[in-house]
Amino acid sequence: MEYRKLGNTGIQISALSLGSWLTFGKQIDDSVAEKLMEVAYEAGVNFFDNAEIYARGKSELVMGAALKKFNWSRSSYMVSSKVFFGFEDNKPTQRGLSRKHIIEGCEAAMKRLQVDYIDLYFCHRPDKQTPISETVQAMNTLIQQGKVLYWGTSEWSAQEILQAHLEAVRHNLMGPIMEQPQYNLFERKKLEDDYLHLFKYQGMGTTIWSPLASGVLSGKYLNDMPSDTRFGIEGLEWLKERNLTVEKLEKVKSLKNLADEIGLSLPKFALAWCLKNPNVSTVILGASKEFQLKENFEAIASISLLTPDVMERIETIMQNKPVLADF
Ligand code: NDP
Repeated sequence: MEYRKLGNTGIQISALSLGSWLTFGKQIDDSVAEKLMEVAYEAGVNFFDNAEIYARGKSELVMGAALKKFNWSRSSYMVSSKVFFGFEDNKPTQRGLSRKHIIEGCEAAMKRLQVDYIDLYFCHRPDKQTPISETVQAMNTLIQQGKVLYWGTSEWSAQEILQAHLEAVRHNLMGPIMEQPQYNLFERKKLEDDYLHLFKYQGMGTTIWSPLASGVLSGKYLNDMPSDTRFGIEGLEWLKERNLTVEKLEKVKSLKNLADEIGLSLPKFALAWCLKNPNVSTVILGASKEFQLKENFEAIASISLLTPDVMERIETIMQNKPVLADF
């Protein structure tokens, strides 16, 4: 396993980590979730990603039970939660980034995960109804209480993140140190353009999500529609429609030809492409089967095969490299 600095912190995070969205407490049995965590930990993964909304709290319950069973040294891994969406009775006080929901959401996540503190605590989305200063102060209360070690954002705009930093500086508090954006061969703008100043001047780290675009970049949808995938889950038709478009599949086909040419499977190729970006601190993997995870771990050893020539050919296929403003 390779370890990378999480932005400007002293934390060394594994370049590949494991997430639980749609899988833990939903698509897969708890025994499979446990196995995936064990395989990941043995491969050197030291970060497990979660959120209050995943399977409406069940994902954290499954992960918490596994952590308790494995009894790994608490100092050897990091676990996250994310606050924003809530899920209980959907009352107005049970969601968002108010001081109330942040403090109560953290207490509830700690209980479900059976931990005394959360290593990385994310604001899952920006909350337009709550002043950013209130959110920054609530996160710092949790940090001062020892319930959270680091806090960050997910899918916030660069401007919102910068505002959080300004509020933190004004009150001598800790600002957000990591962001969790979607990043994959199809989704590039935030990481490759919007956030560049935050990387350079704030030392922001990133824990990127959906590196395989929900599995589309594994290439398994090129010839037929496998039945045992997340796109077959009732209620996830929107995810299938968003990701399985003719346009995307055409690009995946060309990427697969290139990956074949350099002797890589497409999942390894697509993950190595994410890892190659130095502003990626960790790529959060999703997996519903053990073999997927094991294959994906080989991506690190594949990075060197993405030579400048291969990277250029990827651009020719994708045609989506963000154009940077020329100041
Ligand atoms: P991916 O885009 O990598 O999709 C993972 C899925 O792709 C797997 O569950 C599996 O799905 C399929 N897959 C993975 N590896 C292979 C392989 N080698 N061969 C074939 N199929 C494969 O990541 P996720 O979308 O799961 O996101 C990763 C994590 O990011 C989440 O678990 C979560 O922790 C985080 N996340 C954060 C969000 C946020 O808003 N902050 C939003 C979404 C995710 P299948 O069962 O269909 O085969």
